[in-house]
Amino acid sequence: MKFESIDDVACGNTFSVRRLADLIKLVRKYSNPRFTLCLDQHNVYLVNSSKDYDGHPFEDFFDLFYSPSTQPYVTKATWGVGVVYEATHSDDFDYEAMASRDTSTAYRRGSTQKDVLTRFKLSTRVYYIPTAMTQDRRSALETPLVELEYFLLALQDATSSIEAWSQSGLPMLVACTVACGSDPKIFSSAELTQFSHRGISLENISARLTCKSCGRRGPQILPAIYGDTFRSALAHFSGAL
Ligand SMILES: [Zn+2]
Repeated sequence: MKFESIDDVACGNTFSVRRLADLIKLVRKYSNPRFTLCLDQHNVYLVNSSKDYDGHPFEDFFDLFYSPSTQPYVTKATWGVGVVYEATHSDDFDYEAMASRDTSTAYRRGSTQKDVLTRFKLSTRVYYIPTAMTQDRRSALETPLVELEYFLLALQDATSSIEAWSQSGLPMLVACTVACGSDPKIFSSAELTQFSHRGISLENISARLTCKSCGRRGPQILPAIYGDTFRSALAHFSGAL
């Protein structure tokens, strides 16, 4: 569905295209190839990204899926919403990424084109999954989206610095940014308090650690609300949900 402006309401009475895009960005921040964002045993959110560099302009798609199962397969999602970013030459853009035209077809490998630094801007298009979602169903999405947003903003606040993080009681999970099979490292609140006293910042932790398995630097730092520990995270934010 195409709206006039990114400030137009896409879900319910208040949830605009821009707000939806910001929420999807937050979900991506807290997602990892191996750790899905689980809010409780029956609420699984996951994001999927894809691109279309065949036509004009290039497009990046980001979808947010809700699944009623702890096995978060996209085919089992009960609903999803997605936003689109389009390539632009304007100075008004949201992010830059390396992109090149994909000229491959199902039968022929296309010519290899050089990646070019490309600017992308949030479009006014929102798509709903399933596509035939009724107006009532689209409106009903507002409540879970607002709850998810509330939870993630609280989580972002609680993990904004080592000091805040150590006080939140949430363990820290340090995970490789690719699914290389390495085990994540967990730091307890007590360890985080020590880091805080020693003046170690979040940036220091990310900069100092390297994946033992694949050698990749700059691991992702996440609050450990995944798997067995997500229940304690929920208890911590019980006021929010
Ligand atoms: Zn790795």
